[in-house]
Amino acid sequence: MAETVFGKIARGEIPAKIVHDDAHCMAFHDIAAQAPVHVLVIPKKPIESLSQVTPADSALLGHIWTTIPEIARGLGLADEGYRVVVNCGNHGGQSVDHLHFHILGGRHLKWPPG
Ligand code: AMP
Repeated sequence: MAETVFGKIARGEIPAKIVHDDAHCMAFHDIAAQAPVHVLVIPKKPIESLSQVTPADSALLGHIWTTIPEIARGLGLADEGYRVVVNCGNHGGQSVDHLHFHILGGRHLKWPPG
């Protein structure tokens, strides 16, 4: 898998506004926020996209999905709600080839997305 900016953030090689950091994943503010709160959650393991996930990643993904609501609570999003988005591949609009989960909140989000 090619080197990505998120791999560098995961290794602490470039700065980010980190809101969560544990042994398996980290979360930081998106540099081009699309909502009042826009945070990205990444596994530290470099997985290219959702399409590259295997059964060996089940525990890791379970950890991320149970950590996301904790992060959202910490960001003050629990009461009004929020959206979690995973863009996958070209048609999905993925621009960084390191699996990531967008947490978006702080305003009423429209549906369907474009
Ligand atoms: P996606 O289009 O789903 O691949 O999302 C990639 C996201 O990464 C975009 O929302 C970008 O604004 C964000 N992004 C790119 N570089 C950085 C960075 N250095 N720090 C924080 N967010 C970034």
